[in-house]
Amino acid sequence: MDKKRIYLSCPTMHGDEQRFVQEAFDTNWVAPLGPNVNAFEKEMTEYVGVSHASALSAGTAAIHLALRVLGIGEGDVVFVPSLTFSATCNPVVYEKAVPVFIDSERDTWNMSPEALAKAFQKYPDAKAVIAVHLYGTPAKLDELLAVCKEYNVPLIEDAAESLGSTYKGKHTGTFGKIGIYSFNGNKIITTSGGGMLVSEEEEITKQTTFLATQARDPARHYQHSQIGFNYRMSNVTAGIGRGQLLHMEEHKALKQAIYRKYKEAFSDMPQIAMNPLNTCGDANNWLSCMTIAQGCRITPDMVMDALAEENIESRPIWKPLHLQPVFADCDFVRENEAECVSEDIFNRGLCLPSDIKNTDEDMERIIRIIRNLFQ
Ligand SMILES: *Cc1c(COP(=O)(O)O)cnc(C)c1O
Repeated sequence: MDKKRIYLSCPTMHGDEQRFVQEAFDTNWVAPLGPNVNAFEKEMTEYVGVSHASALSAGTAAIHLALRVLGIGEGDVVFVPSLTFSATCNPVVYEKAVPVFIDSERDTWNMSPEALAKAFQKYPDAKAVIAVHLYGTPAKLDELLAVCKEYNVPLIEDAAESLGSTYKGKHTGTFGKIGIYSFNGNKIITTSGGGMLVSEEEEITKQTTFLATQARDPARHYQHSQIGFNYRMSNVTAGIGRGQLLHMEEHKALKQAIYRKYKEAFSDMPQIAMNPLNTCGDANNWLSCMTIAQGCRITPDMVMDALAEENIESRPIWKPLHLQPVFADCDFVRENEAECVSEDIFNRGLCLPSDIKNTDEDMERIIRIIRNLFQ
């Protein structure tokens, strides 16, 4: 007898998506341009409250073009949080720039503004900062922006995980010079795969769209003065995005309810803490995470194994990038040498099933398994 599968976070479709996709087929706009692409850009700018957007094939492509548009190139130092998915950093390497990893702070698990300030003392010529809003929790944007301003360096916000999260009432992704979102299959809304770059500056999104469509100069005869990319979003996937965006607030409310349910269920257990939320923000709670108290006999692997045995999906916290073999030669800056916050979160944490289709019964099953383990 197979127990019902419970997912970490997978696509939730509503039917509206198919309507927009059908329209694309009916009008034969099956191409990386068309009315859905333009409309999805416009609807996204309205939703997050930003002036301009460029729809792309992936969040990773958006980070890549953000760096390209800002002129980041060979040998330039870029500060990247250590505790994030590798896609945050890979484009830095595509451009032959030099990532320097910054440790997390405890309050939100995101890039530590203090460690960032230390990193600028060490690398005063650094060219850009990429901040991430991990698992949907807004980073300490005021403090990070203050450091960036002091050194006159642009902030790129990797809001791949935090669409719908706000900081002091304003959407994450709209604070930096450039913000990026992802619509990968497990994100809060999805287009199967896709991304978007947003900015207040029209010149930035214009240049992004130009580079994303092979950098063709405005001439009939296929003239190129720059190397371009094939990174534009297709009109079919943009249709999925338009349908999903209609349900964005619903998805956010369900994700938040999942977080609250876990928090409440473990509130009497000193061994378990939920991932912290920024008190200045409203998180989308893309993934609910827990950490296990220092010295507890239960490890994250034991929790993941117990869930897997019951056909329930969970996953480790992102392994810090400064610990990855591929980035072994990169520098890493922390607040103080006495502790490594990102590594500690990785060692003691895990991501809990956060799929918005989880029923009350599913949630109770997950919670019961975890509580039993700690008895
Ligand atoms: C998902 C993700 C990305 C990459 O987005 P894709 O659309 O999958 O390319 C980048 N950064 C973070 C933090 C992510 O979680």
